Amino acid sequence: MKIICIGRNYAEHAAELGNSLPNEPLFFLKPDSAVLAHRHPFYIPDWTNDVHYEVELLVRISKLGKAIAPEFADRYYDAISLGIDFTARDIQAEVKSKGQPWEKAKAFDGSAVIGRQWIPLEELKGGIQGQAFHLNRNGDVVQQGQAKDMIFDVNQIIAHVSRFMTLKLGDVIFTGTPSGVGPVQVGDVLEGFLGDRSMFRVSVH
Ligand code: ZN
Repeated sequence: MKIICIGRNYAEHAAELGNSLPNEPLFFLKPDSAVLAHRHPFYIPDWTNDVHYEVELLVRISKLGKAIAPEFADRYYDAISLGIDFTARDIQAEVKSKGQPWEKAKAFDGSAVIGRQWIPLEELKGGIQGQAFHLNRNGDVVQQGQAKDMIFDVNQIIAHVSRFMTLKLGDVIFTGTPSGVGPVQVGDVLEGFLGDRSMFRVSVH
């Protein structure tokens, strides 16, 4: 199983990090070892001083596919969830400035939070585009997103990524974060909601 993450997919978030808008989906990978086990705390690694939360809508790939046309892309995923793309922002800034890969900042152990349940598409009112989500940090809302604000929608993402790599059953796509990203501190509790349904609760150690 691989995790495909989309960067800069919400205009306000791209702006808050001083990035220009992409003209095609920007993607990178996390390995399966990045998945934070359910009910485990997130430990801030000792090599970073600035880990940020990024709440994101997740899509689960349900069928093998390559070079998928956008008009058929919706046959290749069957459920959505919510997660966090933990990012070592200080390390990311360093490797970006040197033109180096992002893995150190994005692919580390525990950096991929995946919600405790997958919601089948047929249960979604309003489809993916109708979904709203938010992240609470210690009970306060810190990020709010609406899937309709994505620059590239799920079908466009699948069409683009599958030109370069085969999508397989069980792969997960992190579709990008809305604005409001910020640092975590030891003692924080992060809880993500899809609509009003709690999807994960992670404590930071
Ligand atoms: Zn992200």
